[in-house]
Amino acid sequence: MTTKPHYKDVFSKMEHCRRCRLRDNAKQVVVGSGNPKKAIAMLIGEAPGRTENELGDPFVGKSGQFMFEIFEKFRLPRKLFYVTNIVKCQPPDNRDPHPDEIAACKPHLDFQIKTVKPLLYVPVGRFALKHFDASVKLTYVHGTLMESKGVKIFPLYHPAYILRNFNARVQFEADVVELRKTLRRLYKETKNKKMFGVRR
Ligand code: URA
Repeated sequence: MTTKPHYKDVFSKMEHCRRCRLRDNAKQVVVGSGNPKKAIAMLIGEAPGRTENELGDPFVGKSGQFMFEIFEKFRLPRKLFYVTNIVKCQPPDNRDPHPDEIAACKPHLDFQIKTVKPLLYVPVGRFALKHFDASVKLTYVHGTLMESKGVKIFPLYHPAYILRNFNARVQFEADVVELRKTLRRLYKETKNKKMFGVRR
């Protein structure tokens, strides 16, 4: 008899990935966090940082905590999201991921996208936006709902950028408010029910 895999096991084969050099220096593969079956949105960042590499979850370091504090402030709890990154291993010294590393990791992200099938994708930062649409600039499209490759995306600035640029914080907060409105509308359109407390 075959048993259905628990959601935690769905992506577990990624933990053994050796598809690129990033794994050589990383402590572990940071696959993702959240419940892929219950998340209504999928948040995609760039790459695990030092804290994520240590703890094994995405966006648990300084910039992630900062971002989710702002999300909470505007009533967007983390549990609504499945959270992952473009590359699943920390690049040395937190450098940008190289194109061949992004390409090597792409099948993992594609599989996660296909499995989670959320209402909305939230690419955070330019590397994540590029996965969905390489023809637009984040400066022009952050905080707006877009269609790309048949899915809905809502790009945001990366929280590390917001932490470095205090003046951009007001804009980031406005984008998060808009994100909540958008998610709520999409949820109502799909389910015709209240967003919170109701689960698929
Ligand atoms: N932590 C992550 O998991 N991803 C980022 O892009 C930044 C910090």
